[in-house]
Amino acid sequence: MYRLNKGGFDAYLVGGGVRDILLGQKPKDFDIATNATPEEIKGLFRNCRLIGRRFRLAHIVFGREIIEVATFRGHHESASDEEKNCKKTSKQSDDGMLLRDNIYGTIDEDAQRRDFTINALYYSSKDFKVFDFANGVKDVEDRVIRLIGEPTTRYREDPVRMLRAIRFATKLDMQIAPETKAPIKELAPLMANIPAARMFEEFLKMFISGKAVANFEQLREYNLFKFFFPIVDQALDNDNELIKRFIVQAMTNTDKRINNDQRVTPAFLFAAMLWYSLQSYIQQINAQSQLAPQDAFFAALSEIMPEQQRSIAIPKRFQSVMKDIWILQDKLARREGKRAFKTFEHPKFRAGYDFLLLRAEIETDNHHLSELANWWTDFQNVSNDAQLQMIKAVKAPSGSKKRSPRKRRKPASKAAVGS
Ligand code: ATP
Ligand code: MG
Repeated sequence: MYRLNKGGFDAYLVGGGVRDILLGQKPKDFDIATNATPEEIKGLFRNCRLIGRRFRLAHIVFGREIIEVATFRGHHESASDEEKNCKKTSKQSDDGMLLRDNIYGTIDEDAQRRDFTINALYYSSKDFKVFDFANGVKDVEDRVIRLIGEPTTRYREDPVRMLRAIRFATKLDMQIAPETKAPIKELAPLMANIPAARMFEEFLKMFISGKAVANFEQLREYNLFKFFFPIVDQALDNDNELIKRFIVQAMTNTDKRINNDQRVTPAFLFAAMLWYSLQSYIQQINAQSQLAPQDAFFAALSEIMPEQQRSIAIPKRFQSVMKDIWILQDKLARREGKRAFKTFEHPKFRAGYDFLLLRAEIETDNHHLSELANWWTDFQNVSNDAQLQMIKAVKAPSGSKKRSPRKRRKPASKAAVGS
């Protein structure tokens, strides 16, 4: 802010940085608003990257921290014809969605273009004042999430604001104002227009934030969950209690880990979300054709993944961990010979094991599963000799000593695939 001021520009801290401090919370990140254009910002900072097409802004990079610096946005109606005709600055879909929001304006216009009143507070380091253009301080005090302007228009411009309303309500423990809440269910279908890449970003904010369970419940309530996980949403609509308990437990665990500053991977939650749907796909495939368990698994995988990708663009690196977690469910069930040791050395063993525990926790009447989970818990806690004994003991109850490992594979993997 001081550098921008020195360069002759205005600069304000805005958004979560001001709001969260007023609420006595620690801001997640800092956003700056300025009258300098992105190019002018770049001229002042060597550590500056210009990003975004829909909403162009500058990222100032300080080590691992990124400060987002956005130029004041103006009204699209008041833009010059030249600006309006330039597709780079302003573009609107037939639904009223802003495909480009790069018309620049003054600070009070900028405040009008922000989503909620509590997000339109501007703190200046010139005079240490907070400027409140939309009655945001009162709404912070009353703990109200209120859209600025006419709600329907604002949701049409950017349907993601519906998600943001929910997210701020759960995160800040606030109520959504009645007129901000009212149109959400009806306008929910507009979410279909949001690109899958942006949905991945929104997925992270919703589900990897320590408030996944609360957000999940609200998203279901407002018919918005289906834009993240259409297949799962369908199963939930059909009262699939098992899926519900499983994903809620996965989210509960994720929330706990985040709130204890433990590491989480989005891949685990993705894997949990789709696990039982994957099982249904496998069952359907098995009903139609006689495939080996492995082949049925891969056939189901190649159906479910592209279908899910249409909603959320899950980056390749997470897709591969999801697959590992799923494949490990089968591997964990086969413990004879050297297999247990090989599985134990798998780079994703821990995630696969945690996933097994989660399954066992939910499928309480599946004794095979709880036995398997306990076995692996013990296996990690005993000496090498004892591990060898454990592996031998696995073989014992299955009867014939002469059975080849190849033959044993099938029943074991079927059980693991969890039909
Ligand atoms: P947090 O970073 O804690 O999630 P935030 O309010 O800082 O919350 P950001 O996504 O960082 O949210 O955005 C910064 C600010 O930019 C917001 O406070 C808001 O003023 C504005 N903003 C962000 N997204 C939108 C949007 N879709 N429509 C209008 N204004 C937005
Ligand atoms: Mg922010």
